[in-house]
Amino acid sequence: MNETLQLFSLRGKRALITGSGRGIGLALARGLAGAGASVVINDRNEGKASDIAARLRDEGIDADFAVFDVTDREQVIPAIQRVETHIGAIDILVNNAGIQRRAPLEGFDERDWNDLLRVNLDGVFHVSQAVARHMLARGRGKIINIGSVQSELARPGIAPYAATKGAVRMLTKGMCAEWARHGIQANAIAPGYFETELNRALVDDPAFSEWLCQRTPAGRWGRVEELCGAAVFLASPAADFVNGQTLFVDGGLTSVV
Ligand code: NDP
Repeated sequence: MNETLQLFSLRGKRALITGSGRGIGLALARGLAGAGASVVINDRNEGKASDIAARLRDEGIDADFAVFDVTDREQVIPAIQRVETHIGAIDILVNNAGIQRRAPLEGFDERDWNDLLRVNLDGVFHVSQAVARHMLARGRGKIINIGSVQSELARPGIAPYAATKGAVRMLTKGMCAEWARHGIQANAIAPGYFETELNRALVDDPAFSEWLCQRTPAGRWGRVEELCGAAVFLASPAADFVNGQTLFVDGGLTSVV
């Protein structure tokens, strides 16, 4: 492999991807593995996590799994310790687990508000803190937080989701502020609109799809595999001096009005 390509190699690295039983998380696990990483799948359901890891191993990927709910600190801390002790050091953390709840702000259910904060923001805090303690001790590590175009732009019906994703962008900068000197690079990927379960209601709505394709310069929905290049870059030595950034992978959506 030539020197430049070597910069993007993840050979010998291990990546933990939260919420990787499906959707973007699973695509990122395959993408990082494609660049040479071993992957640790995370899901709340043990059977599902172990099935996905087995399926990836059938595809020739070095895959393990860790079962925890990102909102539950009592699960997160021992689970991360188990990975570090029994599987191996986590070199790359992708904070991907996330949920969506849609309703007008004036009537937004408080439980939905709390659920959004717990998964999309508290989850990033709990898992990052648990993993970063090990990364700090080693003096190296890559953290990739999954934000959204809603880290930058609001939209009716999803104000609380946008608030959590805006906060993820700032937490990414905070991680950079505190941990960059200790060899950790923390960056975010902000996906545009991708066809996954999280967006089922939008995918099934032809009026939304038509609006989206007009609004997005690329003229279409994203494919989850199209997030892998950004993830490999941010996880690799090629991004060793890139820190606190949010990389929008959105077909140009946030660059035009
Ligand atoms: P999906 O709904 O397809 O997948 C979300 C994953 O997160 C599921 O595997 C889910 O597991 C898991 N998860 C949810 N809550 C928890 C929890 N408490 N602990 C552990 N895992 C959990 O969504 P996407 O793949 O579309 O989204 C992934 C990320 O990308 C999210 O952060 C989302 O906000 C972000 N994003 C997505 C966009 C898109 O267009 N799809 C656009 C911009 C950002 P379970 O099956 O148990 O629910």
